[in-house]
Amino acid sequence: MTDTLHLDKRQRAMLAEMGVRVWSPMSEAAVIDAPAGEIEQPHSFVAASDLAKAEPVPTIIQRPEGIDQMGWSALQSTVSSCQACTLCGARHNTVFGVGALAAEGEAPQVDWLIVGEAPGEEEDLQGEPFVGQAGELLDNMLGAMSLSRTGARKPEGGGVYIANVLKCRPPGNRNPKPEEVAQCLPYLERQVALLKPKMILAMGRFAVQALLRDSVPELEGTPYGKLRGRVYQYQNVPVVVTYHPAYVLRNLPEKAKVWADLCLAMAHLKGSE
Ligand code: SF4
Repeated sequence: MTDTLHLDKRQRAMLAEMGVRVWSPMSEAAVIDAPAGEIEQPHSFVAASDLAKAEPVPTIIQRPEGIDQMGWSALQSTVSSCQACTLCGARHNTVFGVGALAAEGEAPQVDWLIVGEAPGEEEDLQGEPFVGQAGELLDNMLGAMSLSRTGARKPEGGGVYIANVLKCRPPGNRNPKPEEVAQCLPYLERQVALLKPKMILAMGRFAVQALLRDSVPELEGTPYGKLRGRVYQYQNVPVVVTYHPAYVLRNLPEKAKVWADLCLAMAHLKGSE
């Protein structure tokens, strides 16, 4: 990649923090092809103590009709009281999302939407996605792109919103079940429709499955790493697949690949303006 991004000292420091080496004069990040068959799976590590706990069986109440017509605040309030799947039983908080500040009741104005999988323990406690070490790494990634999780969109672009496919934590960070994703997905669909981002970064297998299952027929059998490096579409918004920060923290050499994915997304966004 040629140095078209004009990284300043701060961005280079953030890339260094991400473990991405930027060479001069070409400013080229090291990119190594993902090994075939790799599985990116941040939610697959479950503590034995969590497995021993039985999941509570809460009362299930059907989702209200008309989610696809809701405004931002109605959507937020519907999610906060949702009992449409069993995940409502053990949650401390729903995790709707976080991003650029917006006028009361309005969706934030953003160019970027980051879609993760499901809240973990800290996210559930704080009611915010991507906190803790994974959140710090995501913030460093955003910093390297001259973005921040709450920074407003400027005239030249920017603005970020961060959300998950599931709004409630699966106990023990187990993998989301298909029926839970099916129940929760209309909320993300409506978030995308209201946010109108110009680019979606899909982080993690369940995020990718949720966003691309209708448009990528070969999705199920494709190793996660092989899905990278292309621009897909979801609701007419470009989608770039990259690794979840929680996975990257356990596989530090993958940081360079994440930077390559972010460069692809930035270049596509720049080219479409
Ligand atoms: S995960 Fe989604 S569908 Fe399930 S209870 Fe939470 S908000 Fe509702």
